[in-house]
Amino acid sequence: MVNLFDLSLEELSGFVCSLGEKPFRARQIYGWMYGKGVTDFSAMTDVPAAARGRLQAAAALEVLRPAGAVASADGGTTKLLFETGDGECIEAVFMRYKDRNSTCISTQAGCRMGCRFCASGALGLARNLSPGEMALQVVLAERACGARTKNIVLMGIGEPLDNYDSVRKFIENITDDHGRDLSRRAITLSTCGVVPMIDRLAAELPQVNLAVSLHAPDDVLRGQIMPVTKRWGVREVVAAAARHVEATHRRATFEYALIEGFNDAPAQANALAALLRGLNCLVNLIPLNTAGTGGMPCTVGADGNPPDTNGARYAGTGTAAAQRFREALGARGVKATVRRSLGADIEAACGQLRLRRRKAGASRPAEGACDGAERDAASFGHDGSEVLNG
Ligand code: SAH
Repeated sequence: MVNLFDLSLEELSGFVCSLGEKPFRARQIYGWMYGKGVTDFSAMTDVPAAARGRLQAAAALEVLRPAGAVASADGGTTKLLFETGDGECIEAVFMRYKDRNSTCISTQAGCRMGCRFCASGALGLARNLSPGEMALQVVLAERACGARTKNIVLMGIGEPLDNYDSVRKFIENITDDHGRDLSRRAITLSTCGVVPMIDRLAAELPQVNLAVSLHAPDDVLRGQIMPVTKRWGVREVVAAAARHVEATHRRATFEYALIEGFNDAPAQANALAALLRGLNCLVNLIPLNTAGTGGMPCTVGADGNPPDTNGARYAGTGTAAAQRFREALGARGVKATVRRSLGADIEAACGQLRLRRRKAGASRPAEGACDGAERDAASFGHDGSEVLNG
């Protein structure tokens, strides 16, 4: 059965025509879906009942099942868990701000990038999400939180540039002026640095903001926590970001998870500043979120062997040291902010809740495997962070 949220407006026109309807019905339906967030054909009151019946028989609208929500104590941030039709768990986060709410969505069920500190990749990639599964995260998050979103960040589970075609279609659909008419400038895509696709993004969706997860200023260090570095080195990634800035005239963001004793020394701040100096960018410094995961295990050393750490685990850098790192960057002309995880009472770092669900169940979640998410209480992460300074 076709999921209408997977279709462009043009494809939807073709589909409704195949059911014997006039093409203008597609615009009406699209308006209900994206404009009003309606996922029930019977609520589309300007579509005749007979047509609704035919749609109901041939198409689906709600292919995600809400499977739990947990709000931070201050109510500012809500983490939502959804179950897909084939039993995968995915996560979205709704963040309330004074003048602009923001929704962080997943682009894949799992991830194959294998970043050592990130819970999303711990079990590998299950599958790509469809454009409709991305759109429904926004629609259902807004419904659950009773508010509209102005910004969308592709920073949940998955690597968006590893699922580029679906991500692009989602962005095109949600920014279509017949539906939601959201501004592409209000969308930010975060990548671990898939260089050729950064260039494609700049060429094809130039209004979309780019965030790059850098996390280390050199290949040796970055290679220990981000295997993707072996394919595209730090300099290649920064050069791709620079080309993106040049082509789009938009400021790039670099994410840098501060890991105590690993990448937070003054020399590393200097190296990072040297790498980024002169580039129109902002560095987001986010102390590593380890709650719920027990800390990042020490990874292989530069020689390929595990370092002798007696089982020690890395932790997030403390606030004072994070501020010193920021100041060191600022003194060298590189703008940076330190972000503090919001809602420390819920678990929202990338993929943490999903990982817990998957570990608790079988290798594949059974029906209802996502249930009970609201009872989990743990940490919070990158996708609900608050500026502390800068
Ligand atoms: N794959 C994309 C987007 C998903 S992750 C990317 O790599 O950018 C979104 C951000 O959260 C990335 O910067 C990622 O490195 C960061 N992240 C993941 N787990 C984290 C953790 N435990 N603590 C801090 N940041 C984390």
